[in-house]
Amino acid sequence: TLDAAFFRRWLTTAAAAVDREADRLTDLDSAIGDADHGTNMRRGFTAVAAALDKEEPATPGAVLALAGRQLISTVGGASGPLYGTLLRRTGKALGDTPEVTRDQLAQALRTGVAAVAQLGGAVAGDKTMLDALEPAAAALGESFTAARSAAEEGALATVPLRARKGRASYLGERSVGHQDPGATSSALLVAALEEVAR
Ligand code: ADP
Ligand code: MG
Ligand code: MG
Repeated sequence: TLDAAFFRRWLTTAAAAVDREADRLTDLDSAIGDADHGTNMRRGFTAVAAALDKEEPATPGAVLALAGRQLISTVGGASGPLYGTLLRRTGKALGDTPEVTRDQLAQALRTGVAAVAQLGGAVAGDKTMLDALEPAAAALGESFTAARSAAEEGALATVPLRARKGRASYLGERSVGHQDPGATSSALLVAALEEVAR
């Protein structure tokens, strides 16, 4: 089972991955957005890691709630409230039990992803983070490895899509041929989850 320490490891591993890949995320966002996705994610996840360092939430739900609050309060871009909602709503769905199963996490994550879709008004195929998150949440019912593969494939599959939500949608047809930055950062987060579960 997965306890609070597991979720802390997930988020600190994710923070390191975001830090490492920030330039790539910003490059992707410079092609179809405003060139700040790496900066936004780095700022947010640095704050998440700092908060987790200072506080010791006792349950998986509390770890995710704390992280979600940090993202919402420190990230100015669209991705802050969206990822913040993802973590907060996933955490809320986990409740206050000290340990959860992968299956419970998969179910909670589907709730969190649905909240992101509702907040942003996007659906799968709109060339957003949902294109990585939705298949990952579905595949997590099978295994962590399946979730990681689904997220990475979902991010790659955004390349031929035309953006219908977010800044990239302003480009219309010109958004085609570029990988979505948010789907790419989502794949990083799911890859970090698979790493800590190994
Ligand atoms: P901003 O666009 O405000 O500069 P970021 O660059 O940090 O914010 O994040 C951009 C990413 O956010 C996009 O690549 C996309 O994946 C995601 N995104 C933007 N709008 C939406 C939305 N309405 N629903 C879901 N995801 C979205
Ligand atoms: Mg941006
Ligand atoms: Mg911006």
